[in-house]
Amino acid sequence: MRILVVEDEKKVASFIRKGLQSEGYAVDVAYDGVEGEFLAQNNDYDVIVLDIMLPRKNGIDILKDLREKDIRIPVLILTAKGATEEKVEALDAGADDYLTKPFAYEEFLARVRVLLRRGQTEGTGELKYSDLVLNPMTRKAQRDEREIELTAKEYSLLEYFLRNPERVLTRTMISEHVWEYDFDTFSNIIDVYVNHLRNKVDKDFERKLIHTIRGVGYILKDE
Ligand code: CA
Repeated sequence: MRILVVEDEKKVASFIRKGLQSEGYAVDVAYDGVEGEFLAQNNDYDVIVLDIMLPRKNGIDILKDLREKDIRIPVLILTAKGATEEKVEALDAGADDYLTKPFAYEEFLARVRVLLRRGQTEGTGELKYSDLVLNPMTRKAQRDEREIELTAKEYSLLEYFLRNPERVLTRTMISEHVWEYDFDTFSNIIDVYVNHLRNKVDKDFERKLIHTIRGVGYILKDE
């Protein structure tokens, strides 16, 4: 796993580099935007950690240019506190996630891991989490080499979980993303479908992936 860090604050860059290296990742660091973009275009990174305020070229412009050139490497943006517009702009420009400075190192690492997992299946279009794989071509899931047949709604629901691993998804979020309209969220239809999905994805396996967060919703998590 190779990670590019584009960060002009030497202290922050060195803190991130040392931490990632101690986790066994290979790390390149660029201290300005032009160098960062050059490295990003010429190397096959698994994740790019990109600061926004950079000398010579800012992070959002770099991101836009990378996405325009169809470079789809997952990008984690580092933003300053309170810079809501920046975050929105970065997400619109194709960032996969953002983190506000100063951040706890554990959270930074967790987010990098999520992006690494997401990026691994790029190219095949497959979505993957833990030993669960979803193939958009066949619209079937697979766990531990076992094929799982899904209905259209189960497929959409599982796709939404896989695109948001380790993130709490409320019933409202699920209804908006999977059903595309906001029906009565007190209705138990989401719970019914999640249970259908669990019967197929988790029931016969020792490790459960879909967990209930009581009173809130659900989370896809390997525990
Ligand atoms: Ca900066």
